[in-house]
Amino acid sequence: FNFGKLELEQLREKWKNFPLCMKIQYENLQKNHHLKHFSRFQLGLFLKGIGLSLTNALELWKSEFIKIMSEEQFIKEHVYYFKHLYGVVGAKINYRPYNCEKIQSQGVGHGQIHGCPFKHSDNHMLAARLAKDSVSNDEIEFILALKKEKDYNKACTRYLECVHSCQIGEDTVINHPNDYFEKACQADVV
Ligand code: SF4
Repeated sequence: FNFGKLELEQLREKWKNFPLCMKIQYENLQKNHHLKHFSRFQLGLFLKGIGLSLTNALELWKSEFIKIMSEEQFIKEHVYYFKHLYGVVGAKINYRPYNCEKIQSQGVGHGQIHGCPFKHSDNHMLAARLAKDSVSNDEIEFILALKKEKDYNKACTRYLECVHSCQIGEDTVINHPNDYFEKACQADVV
């Protein structure tokens, strides 16, 4: 992963290339100006993995959080958390972005939005979200059938192909959100 290379302006342009699991977190951050712990961890590590530096990450989270709290409160209650995520304080663990297996294995309780939508969302919610991204009805049916077969990664790969008008290849499936992002960005420049 390329740490420290993605500027905030680029992020604001490229978030539409996020996989659905991260798009949902990012959209909710923009809408509610806050995310719960597991969502923050999932999205925060993904952003670190696609190259957002700690300085830019703090700027991003602060710009949303201070819409519902003071800057002093953000500094007091949240800055340490994000520094911890980047491994510069506390035990200084260099957390790696979660892969799909890890994201799909998490428990997602009522009112929580982290996890993999191809596994954790109900069919109705997932179909509505796919339609919002202009996925056709036939493709939605195909993706829901893959979900029913518990083939979540293949469903995600098909979503990528639909949204970015590309072919990933018969034998290739997305198994990491950061890989999804890279492939979506590549598809956009072809
Ligand atoms: Fe995210 Fe992986 Fe699920 Fe795709 S399959 S939405 S990348 S967790």
